Amino acid sequence: MPRRTIGLVAHDHKKDDLISWAVSQRQRLQTHRLVATGTTGRLLEEALGQPVHRYNSGPLGGDQQIGALISEGGLDALVFFWDPLYPAPHDPDVKALLRLCSVWNVPVACNRASADLMFGVQSLDSDSYQRDVPVY
Ligand code: PGA
Repeated sequence: MPRRTIGLVAHDHKKDDLISWAVSQRQRLQTHRLVATGTTGRLLEEALGQPVHRYNSGPLGGDQQIGALISEGGLDALVFFWDPLYPAPHDPDVKALLRLCSVWNVPVACNRASADLMFGVQSLDSDSYQRDVPVY
């Protein structure tokens, strides 16, 4: 299986969600090189027992570092659980990171359903496709 570089980033209220998804996909992720913003990376390393290259924390420039990696052709996919309900102090960086994914045609999954589709856990073509709907 090819070894890809996968970026993982989660905002504070989405970290549990990302960690839970990553643990559910531990075997798939093990075959790849993982990179992440600081806090997300530390939590992932603890949960997965797999090395994760950690950039700065997002508010301190980590999103921009991952953006730079994209512009150098070094990122194959991004799982970015950004928070639609709480404003982030580094919102311009968040927007810039999502923009670079579009510019460089990097697949980006912003929630669990899209991460499952990206990694082939589910398929829209399958009768068994399901997605959880959050209760707010
Ligand atoms: P963090 O950064 O992983 O260091 O919390 C994520 C972000 O807020 O963009």
